[in-house]
Amino acid sequence: MNIILLGAPGAGKGTQAAVICEHLSIPTISTGNIIREALKNGTEMGLKAKSFMDSGKLVPDEVVIGIIEERLQNDDCKNGFILDGFPRTIPQAEALDKMGIVIDKAISIEVADEVIASRLSGRRVCEKCGRPYHVVDLKPKVDGVCDDCAGTLVQRKDDHIDTIKARLEIYHNETEPLKDYYQAQGKLFIVEGQDKVEDTTALTLKALEA
Ligand code: AMP
Repeated sequence: MNIILLGAPGAGKGTQAAVICEHLSIPTISTGNIIREALKNGTEMGLKAKSFMDSGKLVPDEVVIGIIEERLQNDDCKNGFILDGFPRTIPQAEALDKMGIVIDKAISIEVADEVIASRLSGRRVCEKCGRPYHVVDLKPKVDGVCDDCAGTLVQRKDDHIDTIKARLEIYHNETEPLKDYYQAQGKLFIVEGQDKVEDTTALTLKALEA
C-alpha cells in the first residue's frame, strides 16, 4: 500500500508513520529526515536547504521532488511506502502523479494549532535516527537517549516557538489544500489526533483497514 501522511508539523505524523511501518512492513520516507541527513553530511543539497529549513520555510518544490523521485526507485519501496512530510504543496502532489505513483490512502492527522505549538516546543528528536519524543508526553526510557539506537535526543532549530508560527501558517496556506486534492480522488482519511498517542494509533489503524 502507498500511503501519504498529511497533517501540520508536530501533528504526530512521525509517530504514526512508525506504527504503520511496523504494521504493514513498508518503509517510511520522510523528506525532512532526508534533508537533515544531507545537511549533517554537508552535501550541496543539504546546504541549499538549510536556510529554508531553519526559518521554517518550505524547500523549493524541485529540490524535494528530486529527492522523492530518487528515493522511490529503491527496492524497499516495491511493496509500498509511507510518505511523511511529502507532498506539502499541490505541485508536489502533481509531480507524484506524473511519476506514475498511485497513492492508495492519504491519512490526515488533525490537531489544533495551540496543541501543536506546545507539542513542537517540547519535542526532541534522535539526532541519529530521527525518532521523535516529547519532554512530557513521550519520554524515552533513559533521559536524553533514543530507545531504538541510543542516539542523543536534541531540539530541532525549527522547533523554537517563533519558527513554529511560520510553519503553521505555511501548513494552512500551502499544505492543507492537499486534503481537497485527495478528497476529490476518494483517498482522504481524517484521523483526529487524541491526547494519548495510543488512541490516535487506534484510529490510524482503523483508517488503514477502511
Ligand atoms: P519536517 O521534518 O517534515 O517537519 O520537515 C522539516 C523542514 O524540511 C520543513 O520545514 C521544510 O523546510 C523541509 N521540508 C521537508 N519536507 C518538505 C517538502 N515536502 N517540501 C518542502 N520542504 C520540505
